Amino acid sequence: MTITKKHIIALLIILIIGIGVISVASAYSGTGFTHDIPFSKYRDVPNSKILNKFNDTGCHVEKTGVCVEVVDGDTIYLKSGEKVRFVGVNTPERGVEGYIASKNFVQKFCLNKKIGLDVDDAKHQDRYGRTLAVVIVDGKNLNEMLLKEGLAEIMYMPPSEFYPYNWAGDSTPTPTSQNTYVNTHTDKSSSSSDSGSYIGNSNSGKFHESTCKWGQKTAEHNRVYFKSRDLAISQGYQPCKVCNP
Ligand SMILES: [Zn+2]
Repeated sequence: MTITKKHIIALLIILIIGIGVISVASAYSGTGFTHDIPFSKYRDVPNSKILNKFNDTGCHVEKTGVCVEVVDGDTIYLKSGEKVRFVGVNTPERGVEGYIASKNFVQKFCLNKKIGLDVDDAKHQDRYGRTLAVVIVDGKNLNEMLLKEGLAEIMYMPPSEFYPYNWAGDSTPTPTSQNTYVNTHTDKSSSSSDSGSYIGNSNSGKFHESTCKWGQKTAEHNRVYFKSRDLAISQGYQPCKVCNP
């Protein structure tokens, strides 16, 4: 066979396409996170037994959908065509150790089931057009469950309504334990706004100027008021990136 001009052009086209595919693939930069949890770990464990280990989430079901495909441990597709990226967490990519275990775990709770979503109010979608959300199953935060089970790592990308460090187990650095001071501070603020110039969100771990729209959107039962910025910081709250308190 002789190498003609046509052959060379065809080879060049293949080469160019090949480089294109590689560069698209490498644009998606996972963190290389892996874990060695066996993929069969949860296979014979009833869902209810796993769910019972976790507290009900303070997140709200803003909408629901039926999961028709689990891509991996942090991405699912809904019947509506909507793609959902679990906010605040990252699970192993395909081909990386731990990928199947994380995926199996999510399949167990989501596949062909109706799930709830609490969409990230600070950022609705990622750059791939996927909805950023907490996935809620039977009143539990599945993003948090993935973290606590060691199936995911924290991937905190502000701006975000959610502060995943508050979901992680004890082994992960977290400002202070979260839920304990919700009530201790709300009593001071029962006389409403003038008793605290800052609004904290015990769910997201963020605090805001009392005038910030994100602060004002905080659900009543998640609200914590602070008289000073220092107090909020000392309680482990992070300043909102929007209002910069
Ligand atoms: Zn704010």
